Amino acid sequence: MRLSRFFLPVLKETPAEAQIVSHRLMLRAGLVRQEAAGIYAWLPLGIRVLQKIEQIVREEMNRAGAIEILMPTLQPSELWKETGRYDAYGPEMLRIKDRHDREMLYGPTNEDMVTDIFRSYVRSYKSLPLNLYHIQWKFRDEVRPRFGVMRGREFLMKDAYSFDLDKEGARRSYNKMYVAYLRTFARMGLKTIPMRAETGPIGGDLSHEFIVLAETGESQVFLHQDLIDMPVPGEDVDFDSDLSPIVAERTALYAATSDVHDQARFEAEVPEAKRVTARGIEVGQVFYFGSKYSKPMKAVVTGPDGKDVPVEGGSYGIGVSRLVGAIIEASHDDAGIIWPAPVAPFDIALINLKVGDAATDAACDKLYAALTRAGRDVLYDDTNERPGAKFATMDLIGIPVQIVVGPRSLASGAVEVKTRATGAKEEISLDAALNRFAGS
Ligand code: ATP
Ligand code: MG
Repeated sequence: MRLSRFFLPVLKETPAEAQIVSHRLMLRAGLVRQEAAGIYAWLPLGIRVLQKIEQIVREEMNRAGAIEILMPTLQPSELWKETGRYDAYGPEMLRIKDRHDREMLYGPTNEDMVTDIFRSYVRSYKSLPLNLYHIQWKFRDEVRPRFGVMRGREFLMKDAYSFDLDKEGARRSYNKMYVAYLRTFARMGLKTIPMRAETGPIGGDLSHEFIVLAETGESQVFLHQDLIDMPVPGEDVDFDSDLSPIVAERTALYAATSDVHDQARFEAEVPEAKRVTARGIEVGQVFYFGSKYSKPMKAVVTGPDGKDVPVEGGSYGIGVSRLVGAIIEASHDDAGIIWPAPVAPFDIALINLKVGDAATDAACDKLYAALTRAGRDVLYDDTNERPGAKFATMDLIGIPVQIVVGPRSLASGAVEVKTRATGAKEEISLDAALNRFAGS
């Protein structure tokens, strides 16, 4: 992409309304624009990051055996009346009436609807286990939307729903999602810690929140220090095998959010030197809720003994749009964002320091063509801005690698390669750059 033809509305001023660094940087780098409280338009750079995150979530869900569907944002109220949640959910639910005066709502979550889909098609235990997920916008009319996309009102969530014949099966499904979550967040460069958590309006009796430790996090958390650097299962993890040892290794160590924290237990279980009290950002949560939805909605399956039983369920959410903010909280410096490569909006920034200079233009064109051909996503700054302004913008938007091309180094056949994360700079020949980044 040539910057001269791109739409990159960066801001010079630091927006006064933004209280935390990720929100400031998202506005300054032109990722999002606020349209109403807690409601954002995603600009070109922002949507690229959002889609990268979405794709990692999708790949890891698929790997764990979940199946993608897409449910609508608008839901009829009837299903929610069946489960009793229409009244229970309260003012966070956006209620809408259509032209025929039918009560609708903008979905804050989808347990009720997916259970309706399930009961319409599935009759026998032989179709189980089943896990259906979608990646769809949600609306929750939060009392205090704040921190940009971290606590929005409209936000993008991945939500998966598992169906099993019995508790044991449900536990296996829960463990799969638990392990898939560890992998998903690690692929985005995030260290997350699963912690025992309250079940809230989703209900049920077993739940973990996946927390990124950060000073600006909204949740207070208590944990055993050894959880922080525990290795994450690799790509070779077999989701058909027994995953309970991986889960047990973690759940053996104390980690809880403030809602369920028990100070006496914390002190009894964790040696003083290992006690960590910190703040964190919730990027995902998994719930086991058994027959909470299947009973009232009569979602039953026939078991091997010929008897009908309500299906055992769990649900599993990831805050896809919140992750954009969470990743920036975890990875930035004074100059701007530092994207972990897997979620970066572009792989490489190519900076032409003297547009109009024949040799510089030719070298840039050659690099741009070769990198693009090799499948790399390149943002080529071919504008007439001053070099200082170009460097500042590229540092702000955080593309992992910058290749800087100017007449001075080019006179000796060289270009400069800068790694955004470390600031390390290296002069290498144009051919070496082609080799390294375009593999030619
Ligand atoms: P919170 O406690 O932060 O309000 P929640 O526990 O109500 O979140 P869940 O129902 O667990 O949220 O939703 C799954 C995920 O969706 C959360 O882990 C979070 O990452 C994300 N999420 C929830 N509410 C919001 C919001 N208002 N804005 C952005 N992301 C959100
Ligand atoms: Mg939650």
